[in-house]
Amino acid sequence: MNNLEKIKQKDGGVFQGFINEMEKLISTAKEEMEILSKGRVFLTKLISNDSWLPDECAKSYSDKYAQHLLYKDPLDKFSVVSFVWGPGQRTPIHDHTVWGIVGVLRGAELCDEYELDIEGKVKAQDRSHILKKGRVEAVSPMIGDWHRVANHLEDQSSISIHVYGGDIGNLKRHMLNEAGEVVEFVSGYSST
Ligand code: FE
Repeated sequence: MNNLEKIKQKDGGVFQGFINEMEKLISTAKEEMEILSKGRVFLTKLISNDSWLPDECAKSYSDKYAQHLLYKDPLDKFSVVSFVWGPGQRTPIHDHTVWGIVGVLRGAELCDEYELDIEGKVKAQDRSHILKKGRVEAVSPMIGDWHRVANHLEDQSSISIHVYGGDIGNLKRHMLNEAGEVVEFVSGYSST
């Protein structure tokens, strides 16, 4: 049974309703800002209750944050992923290359903001913000695409639901390596 089938068994149609809303929005929206603004409303509604997420998709791993694929549309127009952060876990500094909407389902995330300077170098903006349970934010090459995300809680997992304008686990995108160089990466998924 895949994750979508597990969700269907558990949630009584809440998640499928969200998928239907996103499908319709993406097929009718005239511009990205419309997807981001209306998608935020749909995602805020989805994360207002966490009972639809199966335990398997809320699992953290000891070595790395988990990225459980919940849904990918047949044409790769969008994907939905649950990110599960164990205590102390964080991403590298990275971009997405497509629009993304992120909502915190449990716990809280710490987001450090970065930007590309005019020479194409990734620079810290010396700005961070905390995204608490129930809050939603967006990323994209148009509005700011570089950040680093960490679990803000030191003693428990946090979970966020991410929606991206593509098959995010299979897109070639970019991160900074330990030497501070921009390198390509493909994130993959923890489970399908
Ligand atoms: Fe990100």
